Amino acid sequence: MALINGHFLELEDSYLFSTVNKKVAAFGEAHPEKKIIRMGIGDVTLPLAPAVIDALHQAVDEMATKEGFHGYGPEQGYDFLRGAVRDYYKTHGVELEADEIFISDGAKSDIGNITDLFDGANTVMIPDPVYPVYVDTNIMDGRTILYLSATPENDFLPMPDGRHADLVYLCSPNNPTGAVYTREQLKAWVDYALENEAVLLFDAAYESFITDEKLPHSIYEVEGAKECAIEFCSLSKTAGFTGTRCGYTVVPKALYGKTAAGEKVQPNRLWLRRQTTKFNGVPYIIQRGAAAVFTPEGRAQCLNMIAYYRENAKLMADVLTRKGIYFTGGINSPYIWMECPGKMGSWEFFDFLLEKAAVVGTPGAGFGVNGEGFFRLTAFGNHENAEEAMARLEELL
Ligand code: PLP
Repeated sequence: MALINGHFLELEDSYLFSTVNKKVAAFGEAHPEKKIIRMGIGDVTLPLAPAVIDALHQAVDEMATKEGFHGYGPEQGYDFLRGAVRDYYKTHGVELEADEIFISDGAKSDIGNITDLFDGANTVMIPDPVYPVYVDTNIMDGRTILYLSATPENDFLPMPDGRHADLVYLCSPNNPTGAVYTREQLKAWVDYALENEAVLLFDAAYESFITDEKLPHSIYEVEGAKECAIEFCSLSKTAGFTGTRCGYTVVPKALYGKTAAGEKVQPNRLWLRRQTTKFNGVPYIIQRGAAAVFTPEGRAQCLNMIAYYRENAKLMADVLTRKGIYFTGGINSPYIWMECPGKMGSWEFFDFLLEKAAVVGTPGAGFGVNGEGFFRLTAFGNHENAEEAMARLEELL
């Protein structure tokens, strides 16, 4: 019998969303008269922007012609989309070369696959609570994980604490806490990485939700970051591509790792080799739709969608503020991370809110040990539901 990768057996079963779904289904069966409002899912609900739809239609029509048909494309993405992403970075003052940008089917795959480039002996540092993919993909490879405590004391923005790591994951704006690192804080992380010869794995999946002009959208807005950081981004939340699938990863050529013999190697070269070997690219049609996101028209339409979600977040934040409940996020992020009232545990509050108000959120404990006692609400629903859910919550608390 083939020997399996035993590290897979070290993974904890992912009960979070299955348990949530089971509890909601049971409640729905017991109370068919109640309207359940779901504010737990991290999925968008608005349709794709008209500019994206037009580009998709046009690309489909092209595929119906001999001249416009596209078969296998470049694994790392078509030049038209890499160029569009490069130009988008310029709007944040970041100069990249197109061959530092790799188009993919979303940030989750790239975040999971990037571990291929790094030896299993590297120590990784991961904030807690955070998007669970960082932890699980490193457990699969058997790496030693050090956790960075994110708590109300540090506004859920942990900073270097003197411990050494070779790979450091940062997520800003953060899922689930909505907290966003300032430029000065990211500078401290870049300094740390340069001193420790570490690589920062920076997840900017929610950068489009940042409205505060002082806050950085990209790690490369900080000097020195190109020598120490890889950045992941996605059109999932920026442009509603959760089901359409497109993202991009930046691997700068100024970044180096080393071999066991101490020779310097560019991860950029290795990532190209990895992607051209194990990935066959994002469909032409999807990349045309994605390129439309970066046109002035597409950008304006996507920002309108984000503004719609942001209004939900504001409504939620206003109610929590009125109630004197501690929370982070909701301003530069689609997530509100609230303390469970009355010192309730995450699951206790989940049950309480479901039973008493028929409102569904996500228990913070599902995102790490420090998530216990907290709860995540998302702003991706419609206004009517957000209003009704928050009115029920306000009455209840
Ligand atoms: N990174 C973070 C922090 C996320 O919350 C998510 C999705 O929820 C992703 C990455 C994955 O995005 P994608 O849909 O591009 O795979």
